[in-house]
Order: sequence, then structure tokens, then C-alpha cells
Amino acid sequence: MILNYLLIMLATFVIMEGVTWCTHRYVMHGFLWVLHADHHDKDHDHVLERNDSFFLVFGIPSFLLCLAGVRGGEVNALLFIGLGVALYGMAYVLVHDIFIHQRLKWLRQTKNPYFLALRKAHKVHHKQLGKEDGECFGMLFVPLRYFREALAYRRKVRAS
Ligand SMILES: [Zn+2]
Ligand SMILES: [Zn+2]
Repeated sequence: MILNYLLIMLATFVIMEGVTWCTHRYVMHGFLWVLHADHHDKDHDHVLERNDSFFLVFGIPSFLLCLAGVRGGEVNALLFIGLGVALYGMAYVLVHDIFIHQRLKWLRQTKNPYFLALRKAHKVHHKQLGKEDGECFGMLFVPLRYFREALAYRRKVRAS
């Protein structure tokens, strides 16, 4: 039983990458661009970005799912869906905000090819300052070409 719940949580985590891709591609670069625009082209000096409101867009449903998952004192699958969303949210903040954008100094000098590829892919997404024609809308799933690039770069550094 607990194994089923853990699988549900893991599946939710994986599905969230897809949900994030779609939200980023069609909502953030769509009708909620007003909230995402300052993440591409920051027009103020505040530490927080309007884009950070998306934390609530995912955080609130996650919290409500967890609540519904313990209703009546008995645990049901919704709790693990809620936890999966929350875990993905934490991974997103660690990877996107802290590692990629260095909002806290952490892993700055990494040589890990996966992390390098991940950062590269998202920087490519940021090359586009506007709303249209972006690429790399996902987060944890790294396009293979950036991974290969990072590996080739590491080989070159090691050889020299
Ligand atoms: Zn974007
Ligand atoms: Zn970003």
C-alpha cells in the first residue's frame, strides 16, 4: 500500500515536469505573460519578481490536495499527489531560482554535466526577452544536445 502511494508521488513529480512545460509555454508565455515578463526582462530592483506569484499558483492546489488527502483522519492518494506537487515545487525552486539564477549562492562552480546542461537549456530559454518563439520551456528534463555539449566541454577541460 505504502509502495503504491510512493509510486503515485513519484508519478506526480514526473508529470509535473510536463504540467510545468505546458504552463510555462501556454500560460506564462500566454495570458499570464504580465506576471512572467519581469522574469525575462526585469524592470525593477525588488528582490521578488511578479513571476514569483506562480509559486502560489502551484502551492495552493498542492496544499489543498494534501488537506483533502487526510480528510476524516484517513490518508488517501490525494495526499501523495499533493506531496508530489510540493516536492516538484521544491526541486523547481532549488534548481531554477537558486542554482540557475543564483538567487542564493549555491553550486555556482559545479562541473556536473547534468547541472551544466540544465542551466544552459534554461539560459537559452531566457535569450528570448519577449513572449513569442521561446524554446526550452521545461526544467528538469534537459534536451540531450545540451547534455552532450556539457560532456564534451568537460572532456576538453580535462584534456587541457
Ligand atoms: Zn519564460
Ligand atoms: Zn528563469
